[in-house]
Amino acid sequence: MVTKETIRTAPKVLLHDHLDGGLRPATVIELAQETGYAGLPTEDPVELGKWFRSGADRGSLELYLEGFTHTVGVMQTPDAIARVASECAQDLAADGIVYAEVRYAPELSTQGGLSLDEVMQSWLDGLEAGARAAAAAGNPIVIRAIVTAMRQFARSVEIAELSVRFRDEGTVGFDIAGPEDGFPPSRHLDAFQLIHRANFHITIHAGEAFGLPSIWEALQWCGTERLGHGVRIVDDITVKPDGEVEIGRLAQFVRDNRVPLEMCPTSNVDTGAVESIEKHPIDLLRRLRYRVTVNTDNRLMSGVSLSDEFDTLARTFGIGLDEMQWLSTNAMKSSFLAFDERLRLINGVIKPGYERLKAEAQAQSPTLV
Ligand SMILES: [Zn+2]
Repeated sequence: MVTKETIRTAPKVLLHDHLDGGLRPATVIELAQETGYAGLPTEDPVELGKWFRSGADRGSLELYLEGFTHTVGVMQTPDAIARVASECAQDLAADGIVYAEVRYAPELSTQGGLSLDEVMQSWLDGLEAGARAAAAAGNPIVIRAIVTAMRQFARSVEIAELSVRFRDEGTVGFDIAGPEDGFPPSRHLDAFQLIHRANFHITIHAGEAFGLPSIWEALQWCGTERLGHGVRIVDDITVKPDGEVEIGRLAQFVRDNRVPLEMCPTSNVDTGAVESIEKHPIDLLRRLRYRVTVNTDNRLMSGVSLSDEFDTLARTFGIGLDEMQWLSTNAMKSSFLAFDERLRLINGVIKPGYERLKAEAQAQSPTLV
């Protein structure tokens, strides 16, 4: 089986990772002290890490979202936002990620008086500084931002405009997130139409806490290009006892159109969208050749890195380097980066990276090949 170290060094691509869900526990504590934020449950980094983890793993999206009060609470100054973004880029690069899209809802960082533009500027400056530091440490990464609007609030048009305004500074798309049940994506049609008219990109959190109608609206009303999670698409797929698979019209549409699924296995178990990793449909969907990608969602709350997620898939479903390469290439193809830059990363970084690792594995255990 592929080792954890091989997984870490393999070139990986991350499309679904929340900036406010990936802070280092020690940084949360330091920023709380610097910015005068009171209310952390503990000031010990190890304990705080555990607190986030145990708070998240309670089988409900609403409970899962509680921990964000604290991470967002310390992200209210330009320096704090830039530091969090810079550390995010460095942590992802150190995990072997060569391309990442990191998302955040800037409206969450305006409690201390910052404007949306100031939040964006600090976030993008931080990503750039982090990518520079990562390259200097020998871990080059290309990193871009997806601007999220909260689905329970009413600022999505303004946020969509913001995402387009910063497209030459590092944003690549627009997303909506937050509680899914009761807040269908079609509430934000104006925002999605604005994005379409600007020839910009859309991904929508759908099919996580709520089922097929949410996926259908995201695709057919809002015109999303990718599905955040999309895990419940499996409700439209029936595997009969004899192994024959029946695929409904919506699931067929998703497969035929190669709609990328931003799947986040551990997070889906934490929020109760899926009962266990063993029962996660990611392997079925992969075998049915859906455009599956593997993601972290919230590294702090779910206590994972992208390498951990691949390691879990290797141990649970036996995926190896071939499957990892396929999943990583899927993600790169599905990114919102310009086509020529995508090709450059696929042919110049991902393909040679896996070829080298596969040759190494073959040299080490020739009898197994
Ligand atoms: Zn998410």
